[in-house]
Amino acid sequence: MTLPPADLSRRALMGVAAAATLAPAASAAATASDAYVLRNVRLETGYDHDADGVSGTKTALFDVRIAGGRIAAVTPAGGPKPAGRAYDAGGLLMLPAFRDMHIHLDKTFYGDPWRPPRLKKNGIPGQIAIEQRLLPGMLPGVEAHADRLVNLLQSKGATFARSQCNVDPVVGIQNLVRLKRALDRRDPTFGHEIVAFPQHGLVSVHLEQTMREAMAAGATHVGGIDPTAVDGGLERSVDTVLQIALDAKAPIDMHLHEPAETGIAAIKRIAARVEQEPSLKGRVTFSHCFCLMSLDDAEAADMASLMAHAGMSVASTVPMGRKVMPIPILLAKGVPVYMGTDTVVDFWGVFGQCDVLLKAWIACQMYGWSDEFGLSQALRLATGGPVPLSPTGEQLWPRPGDPADVVLVRTSCAAETVARMPPRETVLHRGVLAAGAFPRAA
Ligand SMILES: [Zn+2]
Repeated sequence: MTLPPADLSRRALMGVAAAATLAPAASAAATASDAYVLRNVRLETGYDHDADGVSGTKTALFDVRIAGGRIAAVTPAGGPKPAGRAYDAGGLLMLPAFRDMHIHLDKTFYGDPWRPPRLKKNGIPGQIAIEQRLLPGMLPGVEAHADRLVNLLQSKGATFARSQCNVDPVVGIQNLVRLKRALDRRDPTFGHEIVAFPQHGLVSVHLEQTMREAMAAGATHVGGIDPTAVDGGLERSVDTVLQIALDAKAPIDMHLHEPAETGIAAIKRIAARVEQEPSLKGRVTFSHCFCLMSLDDAEAADMASLMAHAGMSVASTVPMGRKVMPIPILLAKGVPVYMGTDTVVDFWGVFGQCDVLLKAWIACQMYGWSDEFGLSQALRLATGGPVPLSPTGEQLWPRPGDPADVVLVRTSCAAETVARMPPRETVLHRGVLAAGAFPRAA
């Protein structure tokens, strides 16, 4: 598939502005913390323009008051010294914190000695056979490994993850119980959602009851996997996922690696069911959704329209290869697209860096978003939605009442941040330090 033309890229970035909002995290409730002021924070205030369009990003210094885990006030810098705790950000740029929307925190070797990866044989079924042998031995380390990965995520500026978690005939819900325990312990510096993920199949391995137990044990999303290629039956697999979701009143996040012949059919069947069950509208995410890569632009646009109508979203790793995910087309049609790092040093893959800013950086290169405007607006891929400026340059973030989920970086604007990927100096979740260090006291 050819890359979309530049004007489509621009429309894509503008189209998502209205579309990408995230439901509040189940476990990321506001946590009261001492009120304090971040002084001399750089915030974006608008775009400069010339005859050719956006020529730069305007910024100014502000004092940002944080209280009760939220942005309480934003005032121009230079006012009188505030009473109480205050830090001098010294002109560091403040951006919304990042969100990793597809990661497997329950089955990583991160932090262990290097395990030489082996060539994958027999596709996903071959990998599942390996996993079935490995999982029991990994159980005792699930919490410690998840902890290490959350540390890594936070160090990269992410304070929220939607983690997939195996629910399968080998471990049942044991990974889920351990992962939830590990993530609950990270409150209030890290928010999360957990997808009950039937990695080894659902109806094909009679997992329905175990999936229901997983939802009762704290999973926030019902997962699914390739209904035809892995689970052995489009209608039974899809309908079972939907029924569990309806009964649990939970959203869906389905792994879809299938080729176009069967993957598109799965999307269409779910879209048809959403029409019948309006409570599912806006509650379905497809992870990967590789089937879209085989469509030509007109076909991809039709599917994107169908998905937008059903309120479906896509979580992507922005895979690199001969085929390209039509992310600009999805965005242009109003389908929210989220970034995930997926596998981080495990037996499925070793390239995950736990850095969704890197995903935005890759997307900018793949889709030609290489000017100030494109780089600036692409930040939304890393944040899962919020950006400082609207496509027309109005200041959108931060506003009083917004969660104090922020990253401070040593760059001049969002565009430079996406292009240069600087160290994350200060990372706050609900106003609490999640990684890095507070600036010096003011
Ligand atoms: Zn995955």
